[in-house]
Amino acid sequence: CGIVGYLGHRPALDVVLQGLGRLEYRGYDSAGIALLDGDGSLAVQRSAGALSNLEQRLAEDGRERFVGTAGMGHTRWATHGAPTDRNAHPHRDLSGKVAVVHNGIIENFAELRAELEADGIELSSDTDSEVVAHLVSRACAAGPAAGDLGAALGAVAARLAGAFTLVATHADHPDVIAAARRSSPLVLGVGEGETFVASDVAAFIEHTRNAVELGQDQLVTITREGYRVTDFAGTPVETKPFTVDWDL
Ligand code: GLU
Repeated sequence: CGIVGYLGHRPALDVVLQGLGRLEYRGYDSAGIALLDGDGSLAVQRSAGALSNLEQRLAEDGRERFVGTAGMGHTRWATHGAPTDRNAHPHRDLSGKVAVVHNGIIENFAELRAELEADGIELSSDTDSEVVAHLVSRACAAGPAAGDLGAALGAVAARLAGAFTLVATHADHPDVIAAARRSSPLVLGVGEGETFVASDVAAFIEHTRNAVELGQDQLVTITREGYRVTDFAGTPVETKPFTVDWDL
């Protein structure tokens, strides 16, 4: 029930885990992270249960795989599919290069799933969310959004019914994080040389108090140069920056 994304100059693992910890109060049954190592690969770890389970698994696995200064994390409150390891987010496409986290419910997931299965894509979870990873992967590979992660996520988000906060990463685009929302919260934290995206400012106010609230059906594409807020079709929209004036 919480999402954190980060692109900046600090080790993303620490920022993301700390941010997830700040969102624990929202309740959850599983957790996971995906980090972009900048070298064309994606490091993912997921676990049913508490954040401490995820941290334990990271310790067992060796944290050295989880390098890099960009990544995202998720705490799940299961709506479709039991709270198991395989249903924990992030979900990936078949290549393992695209990862997506989702809070909310995708109401037309069965249709989208059938469309993917008709193309021979075998899904590996029982969630409504996994379809998004495969769809973003396809949109990024071909069609008008090819090669542009933000445009790909926008094109996919426009096809979704329901409520969602989504964050997507692509190992071939290690300096980009894209996020979209509809009827589910998404706030941007704008620091110096670093940008955060989260379901709640609590995830980043230790680092920056400059925030931007994303409106309904908006998309943000974060790069090392800054960020761009648009509608799902890519048209820039006016943003509402504010300063967080409370403490944790
Ligand atoms: N509907 C998704 C799932 O069951 C996301 C749940 C959430 O909001 O954490 O996996």
